[in-house]
Amino acid sequence: MEQIRQYLNNQLQEMTDLLAQIVGIESNTVDKAGVDRVGRLLSLELRRLGATVTEFPQGAYGNHILGVLNAGGGSPITLILHMDTVHPAGTLARRPTRLDDGKLYGPGVYDMKASHVIALFAIRALQATGIGHSREVRVLFTSDEEVGSLSSRHLIEETARGSTLAMVMEPALPDGRLKSSRKGVGDFQITARGRASHAGAEHQKGINAVEELARQVIRLQALTDYSRGITFSVGDFKGGGVSNVVPDFAALIVDTRAMTIEDAAWITRTIYSLQPVLPGATLEIQGEFNRLPMECNAERLAIVERIQAIGNAIGITVDHGPSGGGSDASFTSAIGVPTMDGFGAVGDGAHAVHEHVVVSSLVERSALCAAILSNY
Ligand SMILES: [Zn+2]
Repeated sequence: MEQIRQYLNNQLQEMTDLLAQIVGIESNTVDKAGVDRVGRLLSLELRRLGATVTEFPQGAYGNHILGVLNAGGGSPITLILHMDTVHPAGTLARRPTRLDDGKLYGPGVYDMKASHVIALFAIRALQATGIGHSREVRVLFTSDEEVGSLSSRHLIEETARGSTLAMVMEPALPDGRLKSSRKGVGDFQITARGRASHAGAEHQKGINAVEELARQVIRLQALTDYSRGITFSVGDFKGGGVSNVVPDFAALIVDTRAMTIEDAAWITRTIYSLQPVLPGATLEIQGEFNRLPMECNAERLAIVERIQAIGNAIGITVDHGPSGGGSDASFTSAIGVPTMDGFGAVGDGAHAVHEHVVVSSLVERSALCAAILSNY
């Protein structure tokens, strides 16, 4: 495997150039044209590797791209990547890609365009050195991860199903560790209805929906328990409209997170059993956990051990830790596919202005990815 590292070391400039090229195409989730441009570039790269490429056309979002190599060779390894970013079109003009002190800065570079390069060059290195990969390798690029993968979830599940390993190529933790657990994310909408009345003449006849929902906000926020890893954050609240009418309508959206599937179920039950406080008020509740937690259970630790052994053999120390954000790892782990997350670049600042990757980490991460593809 030393050849792999050597090959990748020699390719670092080319890896950096490809990364800068991909970052140079803005691809905010809602910018279908931009995401599709990234998709066309990646399709070309996949075809250069000899992959069979299928495009899954979408209406509102970018088209999803699937590349398959060595079709039929053993139970596959599936690599899951997303092409979209959270950065709106125009960000590049304000914050152009720049290389500074061994770090490449740019919108989406860490989450997760560096991962595109890491995955493509892992396969390229295996081919160039003749080491190859015995298993079928599926490389799936999706277009809507940053908004919850509504259009790609089914494809992610069907592509990963039956795989020996699903490698979710999200960025590594800032110190390079893999992500062995993911919080689940639930969004719930709660609407309160009361009775409108004149705020002066008939105040006593009104049922104030804003007050009702405000009391629910206090209840919800108080359920947060950091020691248990569960959080409630009411991030949107609206109600009423004019000052002299007792409002009969208010609505909120609460973001909830959980570390365990059991806690996700508890949160869902708790929210759906909320009762109105004010006599005569009613509550309507909608929502669910879109992404269930990926737990760091015994199965996950066994995967970590296997990857650690593969890493050790090529001089790469692999460690792991939890991530508070959600990712597509939740979908594959929830359907029973052995899943690990965080194979992307070392860097920092996902979704932020200082987003960057450590350029030299491209070699190491790509080498680890290649070693897994050939040895797992
Ligand atoms: Zn991401």
